[in-house]
Parts: sequence; C-alpha cells; structure tokens
Amino acid sequence: MSAVRFAAAVSLALGTALPAAAQEAVLNLYSARHYQTDEALYANFTKATGIRINRVEADDAGVLNRLKTEGAASPADVILLVDAARLASAERDGLFRPIKSTELEQRIPAVYRATPGADGTAWFGLSTRARVIVYNKASVQRADADTYEELADPKNKGKVCTRSGSHPYNLSLFGSMHERLGAAGLESWLKGVVANMARAPKGGDTDQIRAVASGECQIALTNSYYLARLMLSSKPDDQAVVERIGVVMPNQDGAGTHMNIAGGAVARHSKNVGAAQRFLEYLAGDSAQAYFANGNNEWPVVAKVRANNRALDTLGNFKRETIPVAAVAASIGKVQQMLDRAEYK
Ligand code: FE
Repeated sequence: MSAVRFAAAVSLALGTALPAAAQEAVLNLYSARHYQTDEALYANFTKATGIRINRVEADDAGVLNRLKTEGAASPADVILLVDAARLASAERDGLFRPIKSTELEQRIPAVYRATPGADGTAWFGLSTRARVIVYNKASVQRADADTYEELADPKNKGKVCTRSGSHPYNLSLFGSMHERLGAAGLESWLKGVVANMARAPKGGDTDQIRAVASGECQIALTNSYYLARLMLSSKPDDQAVVERIGVVMPNQDGAGTHMNIAGGAVARHSKNVGAAQRFLEYLAGDSAQAYFANGNNEWPVVAKVRANNRALDTLGNFKRETIPVAAVAASIGKVQQMLDRAEYK
C-alpha cells in the first residue's frame, strides 16, 4: 500500500476525528465591512495558515442582532464592527470574549482598544477615521469653522447640518466632548448646535457634504472616509462637490481632531478562540494593516504603517485627539439623555 493510500485508510478508520480537524480549518467572520480589497486580505490569511474564512456579511445592526438571536449556539468566531460606540455596546451586551495578546497590545495604541479587564481585552481597533468639518468655501471663512466648539457659536446660526445626533459617529464625538468640556459644557454645546441648524438632522455623512456643496447648509460634520471617497471619485458630480467645499481637521490648536475606529473582537461563543485571535493578530500585521485601512480610505491603526492613499495624503498630517475611544464610548448613555433634553433628533 502506498503512503497516500495508507493515510487515507487510517483517516477513514479514525473517521470520528475528522470533524474536529475540519472545524479548526474554518473561521466564521461576522463583518460589517465589505470592500473589494478585503478579498485579498482574507485569501492571504488562508494561504499563510490554511484556515479558510467564511464570511457572514450584514450591516452593524444586522451583525449585532444575529449574535444576540443565536446566543450560545452562534457559530461566529470573529466580529468586525465600525465605531467604538458600537464595539463598546456589544462588549456591554457580553457578545465578545476578551483575549490576552501581547502582539495586539504592542501594535495597537492603548487609546484605540477596549479597557482591559482581568480576562483580557474585549476589542481592538484596526483602522482609524477622523470626524472632520466641511464648509462651503463661498460663504464661510475657514477660521469660523475650525473647531467643534464653533458649531455651537451664535455666529454660525442657520448654517449647520448633521446626521442624527444618536448615530454612533456623533455619539462618539459627543462622548469625547463630554471628556473635554464636562457634562454642563457638553449640554450647552449640544443646545447651541441645535440652535444653529440649517435643517433638522437627516441622511448620512455624505448627504451632509452634498448639502454643504449645494448651499442648503454651510457647515457640516463627516467621517473622513466619506470625504476621501468623493475626492477619489471620477464622477463629475462628485468632483463638483469637492470643488465647492473646504475641509478642516478640527481643534488643531487644542486637543486635536476626534478619531474613531473600525475594530475586531473574538465572539463570546467561538469554538476556535486560538484561530480567531490569530486572525486579529494577522489583521494588525504590516501588510494586512495597509489593505484593511485602504479598503475604506482609513488610516492604519498601527502608526508605523503608511496609508498610501492619495485622498488621505491631501488631508495631510494633523494632530489627533488622544482621549481613549473606550472612555468616550463609556459616557454614551449620558450623552443620549442630553440629546433628548436638547431636542437634538
Ligand atoms: Fe460609515
């Protein structure tokens, strides 16, 4: 009997051992991110480890609902979500399994991961995005809109547009302002922003950028990657939008621009914790970092990895806020109550 046939016969005889081995070789990834470059990212992991990635795609709310519905029976191993507000709420809901990884701790700055507990760290940032201000170049002086504080200044009455105050991107920004201004300072700021609105909050970040370009409003907030997407677009419509707007990285003379993350975690009921951790460590590696960030025009979370993105190069080097995103996410319940009192929809 040849060696190959002998091996086949042995594995048939030990048939019960096979399912365990097969289970090791597939990692179930619940992801709210879906970009073309992710394909290469996952293929390279499989090439290096032999572990296949089975992707379950949904939006952020879909991923969280699915995990809650499946409970202990969930096949999820790794979870990718955007915004620390969502990651922190999933952590509070017990959906993650904290891990201890010296590699992740060394590579990912402490401000971009969960506060560690006795069991380890529940989630890790994998890319960063800035919450920036855009303004209409024809009607607004840059100096009147280069801080978050000025969004609430009476000089900007009738000019400001935002998406819903309760959207995670805004909750996280407001959480960071809570850290900087205190509860009373944040509440009066929120009321000032509401008083300055050109219209009631609606739409997503890209809609705010377009509304500034069209003149419906003059000043708005957006995550940097929506802006980068328009900057890199070859559509004449998008180029016309970019022409009309100015961009500021806010608070450069103070605390710096508010940053958030897209991040990952090991699922609470994963049966492949080792492989799941290995995958997160892989995503924090040099080449994976560049792919992961670039897929959505974000900055790598590992500082020494270059973004290599034309639109991000245009935004230049800037001062980043250093408030831990986990601390920001922790105050979100309080922020939500203030939004209700300020009637910030
Ligand atoms: Fe987004």
